[in-house]
Amino acid sequence: MNNDTPTAGNFIRNMIAQDVASNKHDGRVYTRFPPEPNGYLHIGHAKSICLNFGLAQQYNGNCNLRFDDTNPEKESEEYMRSIQEDVSWLGFNWTELHYASDYFEALYQFALELIDKKLAYVDSLSADQMREYRGTLTEAGKSSPHRDRPVAENRDLFKRMKNGEFADGEHALRARIDMSSPNLNMRDPVLYRIRHVEHYRTGNKWCIYPMYDYTHCLSDALEHITHSLCTLEFEDHRPLYDWVLDNVSAPSRPEQTEFSRLNLQYTVLSKRKLIQLVEQGHVSGWDDPRMPTISGIRRRGYTPAAVRDFCERIGVTKKNSTVDMSLLENSLREDLNPIARRAMAVLKPLKLVITNYPKDKSEKLTARNHPKDESFGTRELRLTRELYVDHDDFMEDPPRKFFRLGPGREVRLRYGYCITCNEVIKDDAGNVIELHCTYDPETGGGQTPDGRKVKGIIHWVSADDAVDAEIRLYDRLFNVENPLQGDDYIEHLNPESLTVISNAKLEPSLAEANTETPYQFERVGFFTPDSVDHTSDAPVFNRTVTLRDSWAKQKNR
Ligand code: ATP
Ligand code: MG
Repeated sequence: MNNDTPTAGNFIRNMIAQDVASNKHDGRVYTRFPPEPNGYLHIGHAKSICLNFGLAQQYNGNCNLRFDDTNPEKESEEYMRSIQEDVSWLGFNWTELHYASDYFEALYQFALELIDKKLAYVDSLSADQMREYRGTLTEAGKSSPHRDRPVAENRDLFKRMKNGEFADGEHALRARIDMSSPNLNMRDPVLYRIRHVEHYRTGNKWCIYPMYDYTHCLSDALEHITHSLCTLEFEDHRPLYDWVLDNVSAPSRPEQTEFSRLNLQYTVLSKRKLIQLVEQGHVSGWDDPRMPTISGIRRRGYTPAAVRDFCERIGVTKKNSTVDMSLLENSLREDLNPIARRAMAVLKPLKLVITNYPKDKSEKLTARNHPKDESFGTRELRLTRELYVDHDDFMEDPPRKFFRLGPGREVRLRYGYCITCNEVIKDDAGNVIELHCTYDPETGGGQTPDGRKVKGIIHWVSADDAVDAEIRLYDRLFNVENPLQGDDYIEHLNPESLTVISNAKLEPSLAEANTETPYQFERVGFFTPDSVDHTSDAPVFNRTVTLRDSWAKQKNR
């Protein structure tokens, strides 16, 4: 990112700068990114990744990747692997890789410590009873009859919970804090529950699993994290985070700070919702290029630099807000423009015959691969008598300001001659199927000998050399700004989010395109070969982003 890019504030960066200056945490900066492996990462996670890894980089600190894997029902190896791939793709290296499940034994020992201090007890109320006893925001809770169990009995029961002697839900370990606390999270929260479920890493070794609030702070402490950054919904959990650390012999004292989640218009950023789209078949998978997942946008052709730039621009605040999708797309266009090779592709082919160009003749024209950067070099395009141009570049009855083809109108072929349209060929139904034009041999090399003005330049592909391709055009996944407002977000799926063009015509060099190499199809948009389906025999390109923000234009109309 260049220095004059306007950036939103980042209060956490300022806070850390002060902490470093005052030598808090011995001047160390140690952060972590702690995803639960219960789905693929999305752009919201990218905000957290850029924040945590970015701060560590900036202050010469460390950042761990930690899987918060304490819910065996929903987690899997596949998700765990995809998360590592996505973090790496974004350009970050973790200092250490950890799994909360590696701490199960240590967490168990801390729980015994709480029991010995009379700060935890085994409760035998059912989940429903516990809820009933908890009280409400306006009403204090009441104590469980098991709250004052003797230490020895708690120890014994907890050990037997661990040994699998009880069924799911029969007992739970609870912290003994304050049943009348105004903060419901402090009313003797559950620390451990019994779940006879196989875990993707620990198998059947454990049948008691620690709760998030208990696990998270201790995992942070075990890794000597200094700044534990999380989203705002955990603000009310911070007293519990601190309580646990204050009451066990934790090896270090991390501090939690909350920031607002990223919400993006026209999409949903929640693994739970995204899973539904995948499982119900509304998209082709987690990496469907319409998905706001990291794997989806990668397949679509997004670059890591664009995502990082976007995260820098949105800043970090305590205020929840929804960001316009066009901001993300602008970061992408800015990143792609200097790095995308130019090429010509015709999405809606219309045959054009240059009637005064000899059948057996062809010419090699030199085209620049990038208009501004000479290091991209040049390539040769063959001009032949028969070409394809885009249907949208012709109008039978064009308005005056349409600087493209129409009967009697003259335009320049990109890198080539000026041509004039003389005849429009139609099929029986009256559809235009071919244009007959003549070229002016004096207009090569960008010249017009008599100084006449030819405003329009159109792109084209030689009909002799053209390679057939499939092009996938993507639009917003949802057709309302906030799909989650209302009863069922599925109803707001945009039925036109994918348009497949099966008969596009490409200049031949594009058949050799590598996946992940971005192109700008001149005058059309940015395109990237599909990483799954593209082959040189059957090219498939994804539209990564349009050249301009067409939605903004529509809104202003
Ligand atoms: P989801 O609701 O999508 O499942 P989550 O918060 O449950 O998200 P985690 O795997 O627990 O997902 O998230 C890992 C980290 O990423 C957490 O620190 C979380 O706060 C952060 N995070 C998740 N979603 C967002 C978001 N939209 N904006 C910023 N940070 C996010
Ligand atoms: Mg979660």
